[in-house]
Amino acid sequence: ATPAATMVGTAIGAQNGVLFKGGDILERVKDVETVVFDKTGTLTKGEMTLTDVVAISPAADGSGVVTTGEDETLDEDAVLRYAASAERNSEHPLARAIVDGAENRGIDLVDPDDFENVPGHGIRATVDGVTVLVGNRKLLSEDGINPEPAEDTLRDLEDDGKTAMLVAVDGELAGVVADADEVKESAAEAVTALRERGVSVHMITGDNERTARAVAERVGISPDNVSAGVLPEDKADAVESLQADGTKVMMVGDGVNDAPALAAAFVGTALGSGTDVAIEAADVTLMRDDPQDVVKAIRISAGTLAKIK
Ligand code: ADP
Ligand code: MG
Repeated sequence: ATPAATMVGTAIGAQNGVLFKGGDILERVKDVETVVFDKTGTLTKGEMTLTDVVAISPAADGSGVVTTGEDETLDEDAVLRYAASAERNSEHPLARAIVDGAENRGIDLVDPDDFENVPGHGIRATVDGVTVLVGNRKLLSEDGINPEPAEDTLRDLEDDGKTAMLVAVDGELAGVVADADEVKESAAEAVTALRERGVSVHMITGDNERTARAVAERVGISPDNVSAGVLPEDKADAVESLQADGTKVMMVGDGVNDAPALAAAFVGTALGSGTDVAIEAADVTLMRDDPQDVVKAIRISAGTLAKIK
């Protein structure tokens, strides 16, 4: 493109909240063949709310029947009090929602004596002198706690697109808490518009398979194009394996977790509300946090978005 065309494209981008980090980036965006969206905070609003608290007893027969009120079984409020106290020092949006949800229900929380983040899996804390785990199946399994009695509960919540987390107290499965996040209004339109342009659309997330598929279905992403349970350090590898055959991938993300994947992609696109690390690593920044602006970025680059709104 001529320097003048580059200037015009950059200006149209800026007026649409699409910032290209230089003229070469502006040119390369039109060649993108596959767009990979991060789920949380990118396709979804990233505003989690606590939606469910379930008390579960690891029943002797393994049935996992909800036994609220039975001896030695913690009730819902007790499960939530342990979970939220344990999560008090965590910055994770899942944790903030659990803590806010507990406070809204008038539950008095305590500070954990000890707190450890287990990236991609959950947290481990000491509350009232006992060990509390909050996280996914793997977190509990690795501690020798069988998550199976909670499986039906987890599946129901996950099929609803919620992120369900197991709570273990003092070495025993105690319950499940779930957070939900809303899909952004324009996410489905953006996916449709990309596919109409012949761009294939994928989703990547650290969240579990069922929740990921439920969200993918809502926005029109094929289940075959969903990578779930991806650890933060593995997101870049996932992008690189899509690029292994020469496919030009745009990764769109917002989090600290996403920075290596943004850097690995042919085009890294960060949301303006995302972390500084993500924006730093990105080639394009979408100031409006709108998935639809991925389509705009491609159209500006292709020279097909000439009008300034
Ligand atoms: P994402 O890619 O969606 O940001 P993460 O990699 O941060 O996800 O976490 C993956 C999974 O690990 C979460 O879906 C959740 O099951 C569990 N997890 C992570 N952090 C926490 C936490 N603070 N409390 C409970 N569970 C957590
Ligand atoms: Mg995210």
